[in-house]
Amino acid sequence: DQSWMSWADDAPPPAELHPEIPHPARMYDYYLGGKDNFPADRAAAEQLLSSSPMVRVSARANRAFLQRAVRELAGLGVRRFVDVGTGIPTAGNTHEMAQLVHPDAQVVYLDNDPIVLVHSRALLSGNAPGSTTVVQADLRDPAAILADEAVRKLLAPGEPVALLLFAILHFIDDADDPHAIVRELVDALPAGSYLALSHGTADFLAQNERDRGPAVYRNASAQLTLRSKEQVARFFDGLELLDPGLVTVAQWRPDQPPAQTDAHTGIWAAIGRKP
Ligand code: SAH
Repeated sequence: DQSWMSWADDAPPPAELHPEIPHPARMYDYYLGGKDNFPADRAAAEQLLSSSPMVRVSARANRAFLQRAVRELAGLGVRRFVDVGTGIPTAGNTHEMAQLVHPDAQVVYLDNDPIVLVHSRALLSGNAPGSTTVVQADLRDPAAILADEAVRKLLAPGEPVALLLFAILHFIDDADDPHAIVRELVDALPAGSYLALSHGTADFLAQNERDRGPAVYRNASAQLTLRSKEQVARFFDGLELLDPGLVTVAQWRPDQPPAQTDAHTGIWAAIGRKP
């Protein structure tokens, strides 16, 4: 039970969280059935769910992909993870999945939403000898991410690192050149490192459905840019894709035959290895 972290009904949330503006992390928490969201987040999320009820399924499928991806990466020997766009803690966070395989796994979490810092106790908990660090940082400033002390410490030994960008790049506008951002980060990783990401797409939507998501996020703290398979594939330029390549989240090494179709998830996913 994480209710100790929620604001009691009698205590207003801190103003710096801007509870009156829908925030992607809190909307995602609501899709997943969490309680760490405010009325404005719920209203925006409900607006999208009313026309696109599959968003909830898709959020769960994304979360399940995150967990399988981290497990697979740990299985490949990765002990160091940089998770940008952490989100509000929920069951099966990155460090928990990684430390199931390697108790000494190290995770640096970065997110630009201060709500993630508010819940950092949940990200720092655990008895494993591994370490977790939570940093407030913006993906649109990759140089600052690479200059961060915790990130530098993680990269210093030159061991393979997994850079995790799950369900975050669709919150980076084209004007901020997300491909250049990813390139800059990947360039800084040691050889043998990995890039794992998931990214929302409109590829499976009819033309008249494609603006529903972006329209709702227009009033949020970050805008939503859905990208095509080709655009998502470009994030992996220069990397070797692990099997089964770039597929929807539900199709990426499912534990059981996937219950969801591509159209139901609408999120591309892949892991690439830096040669
Ligand atoms: N990675 C988690 C959470 C995804 S929700 C998962 O896949 O389950 C998207 C997260 O990205 C939110 O926590 C949001 O605050 C964060 N985010 C969005 N834009 C960001 C930016 N420019 N810099 C850092 N974090 C960002």
